[in-house]
Amino acid sequence: MRIVNLNPDSDIGASAWFVELDNFRLLMDAGMHPKRDGRAALPLYSEVEREDLDAIAISHCHHDHVGSLPVAMRHFPKAHVLMTDLSYCLLGRVLHNSVNVMLRQREEHGINDYPLFTHDQVEENEVQFQCFKCNRPIEWGALQKARAGLRSPDLEFFDAGHALGSAGILVRGKSQTLFYTGDVCFHDQTLQRAARFCDVQADVLIMETTRGDRLPPPGFTREGEIDRLTGAIQRVLARGGCVLMPAFALGRTQEILALLALLMEAGRIPRQPVHIGGLGRVFTEIYDQKAHLANRWHTDLKLTRDLQLVVLERDQLHSMKLTGGRLFVLTAGMLTECTPAHDLALRMIGDERQAIFFVGYADPATPGGRLKASKPGETFVFSAAAGEVTRRCETGDFDLTAHASREALLDFAGKVSPRTVLLGHGGPAARQWFEEQIRDRYPKMKIIQPAPGLSVEV
Ligand SMILES: [Zn+2]
Ligand SMILES: [Zn+2]
Repeated sequence: MRIVNLNPDSDIGASAWFVELDNFRLLMDAGMHPKRDGRAALPLYSEVEREDLDAIAISHCHHDHVGSLPVAMRHFPKAHVLMTDLSYCLLGRVLHNSVNVMLRQREEHGINDYPLFTHDQVEENEVQFQCFKCNRPIEWGALQKARAGLRSPDLEFFDAGHALGSAGILVRGKSQTLFYTGDVCFHDQTLQRAARFCDVQADVLIMETTRGDRLPPPGFTREGEIDRLTGAIQRVLARGGCVLMPAFALGRTQEILALLALLMEAGRIPRQPVHIGGLGRVFTEIYDQKAHLANRWHTDLKLTRDLQLVVLERDQLHSMKLTGGRLFVLTAGMLTECTPAHDLALRMIGDERQAIFFVGYADPATPGGRLKASKPGETFVFSAAAGEVTRRCETGDFDLTAHASREALLDFAGKVSPRTVLLGHGGPAARQWFEEQIRDRYPKMKIIQPAPGLSVEV
C-alpha cells in the first residue's frame, strides 16, 4: 500500500491523503488550510496529479477536510465522491459558502487567487456526489475497471461522533486493510453521541492527533466544564451584559444551541432570543431535519422550534444595542477577520459588562487566540483591520472539544492493533506525544509522521 500525505503544513492544515491499494487509487479528504490564503491553502495535489484516481472519499464536511474538493475534482474529473448520507445533506452548502467567503476576501483583502472555484463548478460537481450509510461495504472502482472485471477494495464508513455526518473510513484490500480516523470524538457531546468505531481492525492506521499536546487539568470533566460555563453565562446576564460565544457554523454552533435550549428548559437561564449567523441557521435546520437519522442525543429537541433564533446580518452588528443581556452564537470560532463574530467582538472588547466565551479551539495566531491570551486592561493588536484594542470585557475558555482525548485515541490505536500507524492532523508537539506513547505502549507498531508530499510504502 502506498500513502501520500498531501497536507502542505506540519500542523492541522488541509487534510488530504492519497492511497494506492491493489492497483486502485483513492483520495481521502480534500481540505483547505484555514490559516493560509489563496493557492497556498491547497493540499499538494501536484504531487499526485498524474495518478489515475478512482474515487474521493470524504470523512466530514469541515473546511479543513472538504474546502478544496472542487479543485481536487478538476485534477481528477473521473473520480466519484463518496460520503455518508448525512454529509451529503451538508456538502453542497459548505462549498457554496466557501465560494461566497472567497469572493468577499478577494474584495476586502485583494486576494487575487480567489475564488479557487465558482458556484457553477460546485453545481457541476454535485452530480458526482454519492452517499452511503455507515457500516456497509461500498464498491468504488471506476466503471471501466468494473467492466474489466476488476474489483476495488471495499470501503466502509464508521460513525466518528465529531459532527453531523462525520465518519472514519475503512479500506479493505485483498491482503491489507487501512483505517483513517478523520476527526473523531470518543466521548458523548450534548447532541452528538460518541464514535462507533467498534471492532475496527486494520494493518495500517491513519490517526488524527489534534489533542496530543493537551493534558486535561486534574479533575477535568465535560459536565464540570458545562457547569462552569452555565455559571459564567448566568453571572453576565444578571449584570445586564451580553455573551458572545464564537463557534464554527457546523457542529459547534448546534452543540452550543442545544446546551442553551436545555438550560432554558431547566430554568437555569432566562428564555430569550439567541442571535446566530446565517450559515449557522442553515446547518441548524439540517441538524433538526436529520435528528432522527443521526447518532445523537435529544432527537426530539428541535433547535429552530424550541429556541427563538434570530439571524444577524453583518451590517446589523454595528448598530445593535449591547444592553439587556443578549446571547450571541456567531461564526467564526477563532474570530477571523471579515466575520460577524470578529466585528461583534471588536465592539465588546472595550466594555467591562460584556463577555466573550470561547467554547472551542482558537489558534494563538488568530484574533481569537490573541484575545484569549490577553489580560484585563492589556492593549494588544486584535487584527489587521481592527488594530490595537484594550481589553476590558470578560473572557473565558471552556473545553467542550469535539475531538477525542489523547488517552482515548491511544487506547483506540491499541484496539486496532495496526502494523503501522501514520500520525496526522495535529501540531508537531501533539504528534511527538503520540509517537513516544505508542513506542512505549505498543513497541511492535511502526510509527510514521509522513512529511508533506512524501510517498510512503507501508
Ligand atoms: Zn472536523
Ligand atoms: Zn479537522
